[in-house]
Amino acid sequence: SNGTRRFSAQAEQQQSHRRRNMTSWEIHSFSGPEGLVLTDSARVPTIRSSQEILVKVKAASLNPIDVAMSKGYGAEMLASVRKLEKGKLPKPYKPTIDFPITLGRDFAGTVVEKGSGVDNVNVGDEVYGVLGFTEHGSLAEYTVARSDLVRKKPSNLTFVEAASIPYVGLTCWSALKITGNYLRLENTRFLVLGGSGGVGTFAIQYLLANRAKVLTTCSTDAIPELENLGGFGIAVDYTQPDLITSLKSNAPFDCILNLSGPRSDISQYLPLLKPGSGQYITLSPPLLANFDNYGFIGGAVKNALEVVKDNINSISNNRVVTKWAFFAPSSCGLAEVGALVEKGHVRPVVEKTFNYGDLPLAFQRMEAGHLRGKLVSKII
Ligand code: NDP
Repeated sequence: SNGTRRFSAQAEQQQSHRRRNMTSWEIHSFSGPEGLVLTDSARVPTIRSSQEILVKVKAASLNPIDVAMSKGYGAEMLASVRKLEKGKLPKPYKPTIDFPITLGRDFAGTVVEKGSGVDNVNVGDEVYGVLGFTEHGSLAEYTVARSDLVRKKPSNLTFVEAASIPYVGLTCWSALKITGNYLRLENTRFLVLGGSGGVGTFAIQYLLANRAKVLTTCSTDAIPELENLGGFGIAVDYTQPDLITSLKSNAPFDCILNLSGPRSDISQYLPLLKPGSGQYITLSPPLLANFDNYGFIGGAVKNALEVVKDNINSISNNRVVTKWAFFAPSSCGLAEVGALVEKGHVRPVVEKTFNYGDLPLAFQRMEAGHLRGKLVSKII
């Protein structure tokens, strides 16, 4: 009958991903964004555990780590962690990476299949979420995700806006809650170095929504946008010659959050912190680069030495600590980040949206630097 036919047509549509190949942006070597290839013969990934979902991706954001990974950044750690996940210890060995790799850490899309243990989302739900470091990326038609790392997409966000949030949101959350160990942020005084990029435009809003006091550095042209986000007087132009003097008039800070890349001039910032309790938290530590350059064991030793060296410097300078922060795939972090965005306390800041076929242009834009918010690619 008609009803049966309609039902089977629907079922067939829902199952179509099972037997189809998909399109996917891939790299086949660590030759940088120039090596990106759009293939139409990638295998649709399969759910491996009862807690996973298969998502038809509608949008995926770009992060500096995607450009860095296309050049081999983190490859040693990636190979080691994947080996550990398979239950094998990384004895001294040559890391092997299974190409092709699909990049992309966060996404928004529609659930097309779910494991038997998934109860927070259903097939057909519009969701947004994030992928772990070792997982296959989101710059493809389909991606498999852990169900605890997705949330239902709120109706106030487009797919593009929703995809721009999870990776930067969880990076900011992890830097403050895990690394910084701040249980409450109310009245805590922050200096955010580099407020104009993807993490910065999120972090400023996150801190203000939690009633922290925020001052941020950015270049001249970014001041109006950041004042739009955070209010008059929030942004200080870092190109001015007397930057440290003008920051001093707002010191001492409880925390300096460095989002502006590796800094060689960290010593001039340390005296701006509260002696005894201040924390300098950087999102650009040498951790993965050390693993890449010195191998798994050598990198671990080098990292331990560098943490100690950083802290001898900061403790002797002003009795403050220096900490290295990282993105963390945390479900409670995502719940907190998601709630703020869904209530409109944090609004996505997207500099530019790219068509799926133009992804290499998005990578070029990211490499050129000076971002003002996020870059997002539509998927198909
Ligand atoms: P973006 O590229 O989006 O933003 C960086 C921003 O910093 C740009 O707006 C840039 O604009 C600004 N900037 C550069 N130099 C300075 C400076 N000296 N002072 C103030 N601002 C500056 O990167 P994201 O926001 O996505 O990430 C921020 C940093 O955190 C990156 O270095 C990234 O690699 C790192 N990161 C680390 C993670 C981790 O797990 N450890 C996770 C996510 C990000 P302009 O040059 O015009 O001033």
